[in-house]
Amino acid sequence: MKVKIGGKEKNIIFDPMTHTPNGETGPGDHGKDGIEDFVQNHKCNQKCTALGLESLAEEESDGE
Ligand SMILES: [Zn+2]
Repeated sequence: MKVKIGGKEKNIIFDPMTHTPNGETGPGDHGKDGIEDFVQNHKCNQKCTALGLESLAEEESDGE
């Protein structure tokens, strides 16, 4: 949702959902299945970039 606060447009995130390994944070928490599903289906966008998040697609390393 976008709103204007003090003349600046802001993004407001509401009703966020989390997935945790134990699935204990609420009805939207699908545990490990939820995490794996998110990782497989997520495509990084400008919000990820704006937040400085690393790309999930480049997470694999050669184990230096
Ligand atoms: Zn992303």
